[in-house]
Amino acid sequence: MDIQKNIQDLKDELNLHNHNYYVLDNPTISDFEFDKKLKQLQELENQHPEFFDENSPTQRVGGTITKNFQTVVHDYRMYSLDNSYSVDDLTDWETRIQKVLGNVPLQYTCELKYDGASISITYENGKLKRAVTRGDGFQGDDVTNNIKTIKSIPLQLKGSFPNRFDIRGEIILPLEGFEKMNQELIEIGETPYSNPRNTASGSLKLQDSAEVAKRPLECLLYFIVGNNLGISSQYESLEAARNWGFKVPKESKLANNLEEVFEYINYWDKHRHDLPYETDGVVIKVNSFQHQDELGYTAKSPRWAMAYKFKAEQVSTKLNSISYQVGRTGSITPVANLEPVQLAGTIVKRASLHNADQIEKLDIRIGDEVFVEKGGEIIPKIIAVDLDKRNPNAEVTKYITNCPECNSELERKDGEANHYCPNFYGCPPQIIGRIQHYITRKAMDIEGLGGETVALLFHNNLVKDYSDLYELKVDDVIPLERMAQKSAENLVNGIEKSKEIPFERVLYALGIRYVGETVAKKLAKHYKNIDAIRNASLMDLILVDEIGEKIAQSVIEFFDNPENIRIIERLKQFGVQFEIIEKHNPNATEKLVGKTFVVSGVFEKFSRDDLKKAIEENGGKVGSSISAKTDFVIAGENMGPAKLEKASQLKISIISEDDFISLIS
Ligand code: AMP
Ligand code: ZN
Repeated sequence: MDIQKNIQDLKDELNLHNHNYYVLDNPTISDFEFDKKLKQLQELENQHPEFFDENSPTQRVGGTITKNFQTVVHDYRMYSLDNSYSVDDLTDWETRIQKVLGNVPLQYTCELKYDGASISITYENGKLKRAVTRGDGFQGDDVTNNIKTIKSIPLQLKGSFPNRFDIRGEIILPLEGFEKMNQELIEIGETPYSNPRNTASGSLKLQDSAEVAKRPLECLLYFIVGNNLGISSQYESLEAARNWGFKVPKESKLANNLEEVFEYINYWDKHRHDLPYETDGVVIKVNSFQHQDELGYTAKSPRWAMAYKFKAEQVSTKLNSISYQVGRTGSITPVANLEPVQLAGTIVKRASLHNADQIEKLDIRIGDEVFVEKGGEIIPKIIAVDLDKRNPNAEVTKYITNCPECNSELERKDGEANHYCPNFYGCPPQIIGRIQHYITRKAMDIEGLGGETVALLFHNNLVKDYSDLYELKVDDVIPLERMAQKSAENLVNGIEKSKEIPFERVLYALGIRYVGETVAKKLAKHYKNIDAIRNASLMDLILVDEIGEKIAQSVIEFFDNPENIRIIERLKQFGVQFEIIEKHNPNATEKLVGKTFVVSGVFEKFSRDDLKKAIEENGGKVGSSISAKTDFVIAGENMGPAKLEKASQLKISIISEDDFISLIS
């Protein structure tokens, strides 16, 4: 049938573009075109649920929630690797294996050791069937739904491939994506993640796959296992995997002897920081599968492979001073100012000291020689103090007791690592930081106004909080540095236009601690207007989907503060949006309150989306799959037989669209 072919063509095309973009880094159409086609496919699939395909590119957005990950036994055990740290270690290893093999000529495949979380993915007939974490090597967790959202992992293989095999790789977070995630956390006053590896491995176990889909994860592949693969060496297997559509880094190399292995190691020891992701070493594998078979495994690891670990790069330098930064939410971060020193290809001048505990733990003192390391993290870390070089007169570091910017006495809440400046309304970096947050793109998106101008406005006494922005006149602004008539007009117009920004973004812009974009959306949708949120109790808030106690507490504190209320009232008067504007539908009723519907098949009088809308407008809920909680299944043409059976098994009423119309009229 035409529709089916149409769907298949779109899937093939989208798979190809995904591969071009995420595996080859070489997109051939615009994001806009891509989204258009994806939408087209989504619509066709909605209209023709009989062609549902769990491996369709539309399934990459995620959305399934896994409460408990199923334990799965690996068909082939996932081994560890033996470690080596020197040329001698590797030479000894070669001697050992040549004893078994009988001094044959040996080739080695050299690969980078990717630093992330290992994964084993099963493919059957070219389709992704299941993905399992390493676990204890014998059994791991089924994380298929999460893995499918990673766009560099093919859902459908290309070319000719074995019927069934497992492929292994490492789930990683490239540095750029990691930095971006952290930037977003810092924006909402949250603590950033400490390193890409832990974040990648934590991502695999998130319950909501839609959350995983948002993270810029990648999968780098390095090993294929299975029967009758028709492949005879490791190097060949990497090429084969690449041809089937997997992301296999091109940095791998075939070495004809240990000398060439050493060259590879030396090269990457120097150049590893040029890579877009982290590596902590090299993995050397005997190339021939036949040799691998002869060598076999120890209790823990293959005898035919060896990891070589790079030394973490370390230098020593002098601690000149410690300064303290005040963030938008008032949290204090101590920063070590170092005598500039070359480390891992960059000049390091500063290192984070995190908090008071860290300073105490290191017993770090001004003037100390300290060891600085660039390991897994991007920001260099101070590992230890060189006590031999300490000046006997060096004084114990006393953590500041007062804010470096406004001199208020600092506070530290029980169980929190950071000190805070409580002078929310008088501490300049906090005031400026909040206004800077208010105007950002994801918040009020005020054109013509940048972070530096905000600081200038504040220092010239023109704004003290974000509600003051709405009183700015062109003439107030012109005298500021780098301002002219035109730019001043743009600024004032930009502020005026922000009155159209919808409530959910205004709520995010207020800068309530822990209320990021997603939480703001949830709250706005649930409560509909600011007063309802303000009047909600702690319990009330916690009952909202995905709002935990920490967030709820922070919302309560925000609205307990009279200054915040004053600012909000002012913003209201200026015409900023504080409620969701819903298009009024005269046909809406409460007739379906408490009832859950599942929609299946194709309808004559409604599109599927309209039908779902009609359910919600009349107070009902739309479920995604049939379960004991379903009250009605609205069946259209072509409803799948499996769904029909499930519904009758559970004794759920199956109704037609006409039945539905009479329910609501
Ligand atoms: P370890 O965790 O130190 O025992 O190192 C073994 C782990 O290194 C494996 O389980 C893989 O997850 C990971 N690894 C990263 N890159 C590679 C690679 N190129 N080949 C094999 N294993 C790798
Ligand atoms: Zn302060």
